[in-house]
Amino acid sequence: MDVRFQVARNMTFNPASAVAPSSSTAALLRNSNDTGADLNDPLWSAKCLISSPQLVRRVHLDYLEAGANIIISASYQATLQGFEAKGLSREEGEALLRKSVEIACEARDFYHNRGAKVSWDVLENGKTLKRPVLVAASVGSYGAYLADGSEYSGIYGDSVTLETLKDFHRRRVQILAESGADLIAFETIPNKLEAKAYAELLEEEDIKIPAWFSFNSKDGINVVSGDTLLECASIAHACQKVVAVGINCTPPRFILGLIQSIRKVTTKPILVYPNSGETYDAGRKEWVQSTGVVDEDFVSYVGKWQEAGASLIGGCCRTTPNTIRAISKVLSSRSSSITTL
Ligand SMILES: [Zn+2]
Repeated sequence: MDVRFQVARNMTFNPASAVAPSSSTAALLRNSNDTGADLNDPLWSAKCLISSPQLVRRVHLDYLEAGANIIISASYQATLQGFEAKGLSREEGEALLRKSVEIACEARDFYHNRGAKVSWDVLENGKTLKRPVLVAASVGSYGAYLADGSEYSGIYGDSVTLETLKDFHRRRVQILAESGADLIAFETIPNKLEAKAYAELLEEEDIKIPAWFSFNSKDGINVVSGDTLLECASIAHACQKVVAVGINCTPPRFILGLIQSIRKVTTKPILVYPNSGETYDAGRKEWVQSTGVVDEDFVSYVGKWQEAGASLIGGCCRTTPNTIRAISKVLSSRSSSITTL
């Protein structure tokens, strides 16, 4: 089974926000055996938008119940080009992109409206407030569409230019920006060129909702292509529409140093949602489990990440609602300062 896009799709966003994988593909996978959802497909969790929207909604809800404040739509690998390759029309593809966000919004409404205690915050004056939940529309990289592992190498070849990337992403970004999402999550950005393409697109298309840029690293210093994180984060810093900069789908042991690097070039909120520490083997198309960390170990890092300047913290591939529950607990016990997106 191709699990490379198990991007954590729920993020907790508190005074100090816990970022959890939203309609986490991880969770979709865990549930796939008993629901019959087949994720062994290049369209990854996007396929569930067609075959099992109720499953996607349930996964969003699982993460909300675990304490996530930001849920991320299952559109990481949903691209118009990918849908067309599957025989869908442009209109059908656009409708599916919108649907990914609608499902997340439905889960949020359901969560708030059923009146469960956990979905409300009690203020100091004794009044209650719906716990803030943001819906982020996920945009995966060009490499995620290629589904050849290149989002983990960042090597697209000389034929892929800035214009290629802008043209590839343009319509999807336009649609997601008008979908009702609160922000756009550009995730697992593997190189400087793609960050530049996103920044220019946000400006050229005058996108009205904010965005975050999240890079991935496999050496704890650079982004996966070898471009320096300092350069990449500087692009995010310079773009007014970017409200947070960070790292996802990267082993927890690298995160502290990466936060310190990002802090050198920006004052914007920093988000981190690492994977479990396991390694994705692109050749075998599976995760190698031996180097993973258990939830307790993962959570032991949270305080340090927060002290280093991260305000949105969660989990990506191979993390679970339990990870998010633990992160959320740590953050709410430590939190005092409020970060707003
Ligand atoms: Zn991931």
